[in-house]
Amino acid sequence: MTGPLEIYRKLPKTNCGRCPQKSCIAFSAAFLRGEAVLDDCPFLTEETRNRLSRIRPKDWRTELVERLKEEVKRLDLRKIAPSIGAETAGDTIRITCLGNDYFIDEDGEIKTSGHINPYIKILLLHYIRTAGRGRPTGKWVSFSELKSGMIKEQSFKRDCEEPLKELFEKDPVFVETLLLRMGAERIEFESADYAYLFNPLPRIPTLILYRKGEAGSLKILFDRITDSFLDVESIIFLMEGIIHILSNALSHRGR
Ligand code: SF4
Repeated sequence: MTGPLEIYRKLPKTNCGRCPQKSCIAFSAAFLRGEAVLDDCPFLTEETRNRLSRIRPKDWRTELVERLKEEVKRLDLRKIAPSIGAETAGDTIRITCLGNDYFIDEDGEIKTSGHINPYIKILLLHYIRTAGRGRPTGKWVSFSELKSGMIKEQSFKRDCEEPLKELFEKDPVFVETLLLRMGAERIEFESADYAYLFNPLPRIPTLILYRKGEAGSLKILFDRITDSFLDVESIIFLMEGIIHILSNALSHRGR
């Protein structure tokens, strides 16, 4: 049976920290457990990718990306670009997601200046294939007010609002720095001690409101139009990804 050391020998062994595991040996173990995918490491040669993919077959994220790419191929990207807040750029469309620009071609291939992890690929392809229409309304609603939001309300609280509140309780200044890096803007909003407005995707205006103290609370609100651009499962996926990025950065702070 293949062990982590055999995987490790095939990796760059630089511990560059670009993958979520931050070291090559941790990546090796996570890969064998099915918690890391080859796309997480931007430095694998084609030969290494082929060898490693024979050791562990494709995981659900890789298969989902391939399925979504097939759906995106059927769309006329140039036609839907204006309604989803994308810009045409040569043969591609450009979408800003979490503060970075991504270029998507008609085959659903995504390019950017840095590394793209499977989370971003799934998110962008979901967003494109939904091909939503409409303009943000400026009216803020809770998750449960979105289409089918009531069914997933408890999951949203448990997996998104509560963990984000815990991160704010640990270090609000650091969380703010990271949110600003993702394109968020700090604003004044009613009685919130910390309020951030941002568009993790072009047509997904999001408001994060945190009140500190013993009776503290955290609410995430969305523009009324949001459910035309992402379904509620995808919105949870989006927020979980943001929380994962924040908590990963918090736990590696100062290393
Ligand atoms: S991104 Fe690749 S090279 Fe860098 S630490 Fe992770 S596995 Fe190692």
